[in-house]
Order: sequence, then C-alpha cells, then structure tokens
Amino acid sequence: MSDMWSKCPLCYQQLEVTRENNGCAGGVHCKRCGTFKVYVPLLDSIADDKRFRLAGLTRESTELNREPLLVTPENINDLVSLCPRRIPERASRLLRGISRKTEFFGQRVDLHGDYDWPLAYARNVDEFDALVKYLAEESFITASWTMGSVEVSITARGFETLENRTTAGSESSSAFVAMWFDESIKTIFSDGIKPAIESDCHFRAVRIDLEEHNDDVMDRVMSEIRKARFLVADFTKHRNGVYFEAGYAIGLQIPVIWLCREDEMGRVHFDTEHFNHIVWKDATDL
Ligand SMILES: [Zn+2]
Repeated sequence: MSDMWSKCPLCYQQLEVTRENNGCAGGVHCKRCGTFKVYVPLLDSIADDKRFRLAGLTRESTELNREPLLVTPENINDLVSLCPRRIPERASRLLRGISRKTEFFGQRVDLHGDYDWPLAYARNVDEFDALVKYLAEESFITASWTMGSVEVSITARGFETLENRTTAGSESSSAFVAMWFDESIKTIFSDGIKPAIESDCHFRAVRIDLEEHNDDVMDRVMSEIRKARFLVADFTKHRNGVYFEAGYAIGLQIPVIWLCREDEMGRVHFDTEHFNHIVWKDATDL
C-alpha cells in the first residue's frame, strides 16, 4: 500500500513516502537522505538540528548497503548521538564518502552540493562547500567548482589518511559495550542494551567477556574499541575499566553513549558527570 506524503522528513525534498507495517512506519527513498523508515508520528516533527544529522546517517547507511535505519521516538536521540559533530570528523566522513565513489587512483568524481550535503553531515549546501574546501586545503583532495557541482579527486595524502586507524571505526558495524560484568545486571545487557544496539540501530553489540579470543584481554579491548562505530558505557558500580574504555574512545573521537543506574548516579566521577547520562531503573528504560 502506498500513501503520498509531500516531503522527505529529513531534508524536506518533495517526494513520495510509502506507508508500511500497518501504518506504523513510513518508508522513505530520498536522493539526498537515502532509504530509511520513520515512525509516522515523527514524519513532521523532527527538530531542525536533528534532521540534517540524521540525513547524514541514513545516507551513509544506505551507501554502505545496510538494512534501512528505522527512526523511532525511542531511538532518535541515540541515532543523533552517533553522528559526527566536529568539523575534522565530518570532513573525514566526506572523504570516506568520496572514496566510496572512487574506483581508481586519480579518478575525478562529481559531487552536487544540493544532493550530496548529507555525505559531509553538513547543515546545508554552504557548509558542504566549506567542508569540501577544508579537504582541499588539507591536500586530501583536489577540487574544482563549476555551476552547482564540484569535481573532486582523492590525492595520495587523502588515501593515506583513509588508512589511518583513528578513522577506521567510522564505517564499522559494531558497537563496543563497556560495563560491570555481574550477574545482577546481566539482563540490562540482554534485554536492554543489546536489543537497543542490534534491533533499533542495526549494529553488532560487542561485549569483550562474550567474545572468543586468545589475545591479551586489554589488547583485544583496545582493538575492538578502535573498530567500533560507537561505545556504550554503563557506569553502574563505577568500574575503573569502564572509565578507561570511555576515555580511550573519546581520544579516538568515537562517540560514547553514557548510561548509569539511577541509584548510582550520585557517585559518577567529577570528570565525567557533565556528560548527559541515560539514567535507567531496569531494562525497559533502555
Ligand atoms: Zn531527504
């Protein structure tokens, strides 16, 4: 069954949006934002500062041939928190976007600001152009503008940067979970964190005690964090390892989602208490 909505809920491009799943979710195919699904009540109500970030995430996810992202009132803030905010990180994502269109060294690729601004997680075409200039000034690409489009080509320095480990996580499909490994909060992982990561966000949840390996455990922890797209850190019982792993992820510019059980919030360390924590009482809060 297909209904007509007038516009894409993320970029406001005029297009047809199909209604699926008994009217619960609208399936969107947008040239700018890719293919994704949105709960119908959200179709007209996503805030401006979230729309352009989500457009970046849905476009990237589509280009990587992932399952279409489903945006719901429950997961929208988690999805937004996965989006890069710092300029160098957004430029790096644009460079990866260009590399996906590049089949050989020296190839020139046409980008159209009007349709390609989500590749840079940009707010609009002006910011997209500025991020293209940033990559050119850093000598990661060459760029020449014509009316409405820019022809870019990745340089040797650009390809070297793409190999850089600190940006390796940006297209990963895993999420690292740092938490207290104790029976008493076992269901928080199995019934709360894991389904939120795997069913709602379509990433694989990696918890190091559940992974089979022969390596030194801290080597493995750091390797898995470097590969992760984001890190979920639960501070219940304030394990030192969780603080270490969250700090390591921040140093690598990997987004961290902060969690803590309600009765433990008062003990969150001074250095990290200013981060916005998701406070839970049981798995249904996650
Ligand atoms: Zn769109």
